[in-house]
Amino acid sequence: MLKVEAPGGARDILLHACCAPCSGAILECLRDSGIRPVVFFSNSNIYPRAEYDLRLAELQRYAGKMGVELVADEYDHDAWLAAVRGLEREPERGERCAACFRFRLTRAACFAAQRGLPVLATTLASSRWKDLDQVNEAGAIACGVEWGWLPRNDVAMAVQWWPQNWRKGGLQERRNEVIREQGFYNQNWCGCEFSRHDNP
Ligand code: SF4
Repeated sequence: MLKVEAPGGARDILLHACCAPCSGAILECLRDSGIRPVVFFSNSNIYPRAEYDLRLAELQRYAGKMGVELVADEYDHDAWLAAVRGLEREPERGERCAACFRFRLTRAACFAAQRGLPVLATTLASSRWKDLDQVNEAGAIACGVEWGWLPRNDVAMAVQWWPQNWRKGGLQERRNEVIREQGFYNQNWCGCEFSRHDNP
């Protein structure tokens, strides 16, 4: 299994996670690398709520098995819709997805600062359906912004973005194995209503 090193040699990090299938191999890799993640489920993009609950429950089940702490962010689909307003008809990998990544990773960066976790990574970059550069750009912005639209609570700590390529080093193959081994619920659309293939 691939061994990774977080920026600055950090042992405690925040891992933003989108779902169990994208998290399985990454959590194994972090464990085997001696890194302790707190998993942060911040995915207000997912619609409808029942689908959000299903993906969260599946990840909670796996995090419990791995002995990893999972924190679920507030579900606020209306705020997410406001963040992507005007971009509804963009194709996947387009501007709507960039705004979606910024929305979720900014919330994650804010939470990492509040918890005193110095590094932020995400499972979003593990899927070959996602644009790696787009995810990394959003992560860097999230870790560098003034969080004007989120309560900062006077947190002055810097959070560093970790642009790890989670598809390399055998992790793509292991991802698929873990999905089979764990029998994960594996959705066939990204998450928002605009990415559903049955969306008119
Ligand atoms: S397709 Fe996926 S990444 Fe793009 S806006 Fe929808 S939920 Fe977000």
